[in-house]
Amino acid sequence: MFDKIVIANRGEIALRIQRACRELGIKTVAVHSEPDRDLTHVKLANESVCIGPGPSDQSYLNIPAVISAAEVTDAEAIHPGYGFLSENADFAERVEKSGFVFIGPRPETIRLMGDKVAAKAAMKAAGVPCVPGSDGALPEDEDEIRRLAREIGYPVIIKAAGGGGGRGMRVVHTEANLLSSVNLTRAEAAKAFGNSMVYMEKFLETPRHIEFQVLADAHGNVIHLGERDCSVQRRHQKVIEEAPAPGISEKVRKQMGEVVVKACKRIHYRGAGTFEFLMDTRDGKFYFIEMNTRVQVEHPVTELITGIDIVKEQIRIAAGLPLSVRQEDVRFQGHAIECRINAEDPERFVPSPGRITGYHVPGGPGIRVDSHIYAGYTVPPYYDSMIGKLIAHGKDRDEALARMRSALTEFVVDGIKTTIPLHRRILHEATYIQGGVNIHYLEGLLSQ
Ligand code: ADP
Repeated sequence: MFDKIVIANRGEIALRIQRACRELGIKTVAVHSEPDRDLTHVKLANESVCIGPGPSDQSYLNIPAVISAAEVTDAEAIHPGYGFLSENADFAERVEKSGFVFIGPRPETIRLMGDKVAAKAAMKAAGVPCVPGSDGALPEDEDEIRRLAREIGYPVIIKAAGGGGGRGMRVVHTEANLLSSVNLTRAEAAKAFGNSMVYMEKFLETPRHIEFQVLADAHGNVIHLGERDCSVQRRHQKVIEEAPAPGISEKVRKQMGEVVVKACKRIHYRGAGTFEFLMDTRDGKFYFIEMNTRVQVEHPVTELITGIDIVKEQIRIAAGLPLSVRQEDVRFQGHAIECRINAEDPERFVPSPGRITGYHVPGGPGIRVDSHIYAGYTVPPYYDSMIGKLIAHGKDRDEALARMRSALTEFVVDGIKTTIPLHRRILHEATYIQGGVNIHYLEGLLSQ
């Protein structure tokens, strides 16, 4: 096992990694920006290194600064968390070339999955069902683009090959808007992701977002930890997640689990990963959209129903140890729900950074709070607005819902605006309570 790890992230996930390391008896180095010197994990880490000013391009995205922090502290491995450098294949490569272990998949795998066109092709070849579409990048030829859209059938969605975080996508309903939409998405993608390549997919009208968690070690062992339902979204970004997905049968879980495990074996996947699918609500068919090669924000719901610590497994895998569980030992117990709490106005969603003047955290049976904030902490304006996650576990979905509702009532964050009131509203809403909503549910609710 490693002796010392660099945590190359901030906020709740940095704290989550710090906790896993402490449990495993691993020393930690927190690298942080100037305004982040008072973050909880920085205080808890064995050592800390300031790597630059607030803006992430000058700190958390500064590859030489992160690597030299590992060098000066004599660390062995780097955990990238999610976001920032976690899915940057060049970073993973440079970490390994500098003699450190990157806690994640091999650089080639990250590169493959970071190009969604290549990822879809690889998954199709591995027998994973994909959303019907252009089967590759869109050509320059305008007639050919029109022909493809007609063949796929409207509505279609134009997506950036290098896209992520819900950005770089445009839905097209009629041929009149097709070419202008393709050009706009290309221009946006070039600016946002440095890659103007776009592709086309059938736009599924009312799908659910269902994803499967996998773990693969360096010895060829691969397991899946079932699915999560992340259909409660706003602007293609997840707001509430749960596991298991309501209405998914044991048979379908097993069948899809086998599909993703087989695909991992085929591409020699290593580490934790997630296969994202859209499930057509008309026929229950699954279509692969992308694979995330990192730990995800919503990993706790899977941890609560399986009892498996995904971050500890990531570290064990990177250290060359075999998975600590076999597929036949994975048991799904009860139901878990996660609410992402953002420092934002709950109606207009404008970021609300600032000082937290009062903080009361909920508790009780089945409640877990993953958050770095505390009374007196100032939320800086530079980063993602998520300030924590409230997760509830119960013997069934009803109990998890009841515990979540109760915890949301107890939760107090004063001084800034948060999305807690939005979650209270959703958790009392009949359609959500029934379960199995599609990806347009939340935007429909918000427009009422
Ligand atoms: P990102 O990497 O930016 O998260 P994804 O490909 O995972 O992009 O898609 C994010 C979300 O966009 C999905 O959860 C879904 O809500 C919507 N979406 C993507 N592709 C389609 C599609 N073909 N049809 C309908 N919705 C889609």
